[in-house]
Amino acid sequence: MSNKPKLEPHNSNLGKAVYRGRFAPSPTGPLHFGSLVSALASYLDAKQNQGDWIIRIEDVDGTRCKASFSEQIIETLNSYQLSSDEPIKVQSNNTQTYEQHLLILKEQTLVFPCNCTRQSLSEYNGNHPYECKSTLSKTHSWRLKASNDVYQYEDTIQGSLKFIDDLKSTSPILKRKDDYFSYQLAVVIDDHQQNITDLVRGADLIETTAQQLYLYDLFKWTPPSICHIPLITNTLGEKISKQNHAKPIENGHLPTLLRALHYLGIDLNSPPSISEALSLAVKEWKPSKLYRIKHLPLEEQDLHLI
Ligand SMILES: [Zn+2]
Repeated sequence: MSNKPKLEPHNSNLGKAVYRGRFAPSPTGPLHFGSLVSALASYLDAKQNQGDWIIRIEDVDGTRCKASFSEQIIETLNSYQLSSDEPIKVQSNNTQTYEQHLLILKEQTLVFPCNCTRQSLSEYNGNHPYECKSTLSKTHSWRLKASNDVYQYEDTIQGSLKFIDDLKSTSPILKRKDDYFSYQLAVVIDDHQQNITDLVRGADLIETTAQQLYLYDLFKWTPPSICHIPLITNTLGEKISKQNHAKPIENGHLPTLLRALHYLGIDLNSPPSISEALSLAVKEWKPSKLYRIKHLPLEEQDLHLI
């Protein structure tokens, strides 16, 4: 997909644009159907653009992630022949880099220490007020200062997205009180370090986009192209997630793969194998078929998958 000029990979002097996409699951449970759909979308987009597709394990939240789930997720992805083109990186090995980048923001006073609790922020709908009123102690989090910047970008699937008040109304945590870095900071640094040129991810992440684009600006980096596929929802209209007890999917199960492709607008006529299905799907993938769709409720025949 090319909604803007491709980045030149930083480690290449070939003088030619190379697509690099990724799938970055959090190992808080086994892979479920919604994650398979996301993994497939990023894979198909990368392969249709003759690009590399990389798996990264987003285990930055050490309180929720388990190494055993990482292994299980990778095994399931491999069983669907979704294999990383490069050795798989794990965020928990990269905390020193996150610390260095937080320091850059500290030096420019773009972040501030904060001791606010969820309870004290409840009167602000969980957002952080412009000024921090907490009393500091030794343990505190680091938040990004609010900004009046407005971000707009062209999302190949969701159309033109404009974020007017996103940065004004809140100050996201970049490092938590318990010393874990936030997803927001880690994902931007990792995508930049791995020269990711294109993000294809679930529509639930649209709301984090402005903050990420802002971080790219603060570090003076060029952001990747970003597009958001529809979120697969359960009968209550909620995202299928580990939080609402989504079932693990069966490994290497062709019918499950075909149903996942169906939600990406690809209906294949009984391919004989997973590898055949994938190579057909790479040709058939057309993000514009999903234009402006943010949610796709699971069809009745697929309710057993969650
Ligand atoms: Zn505060």
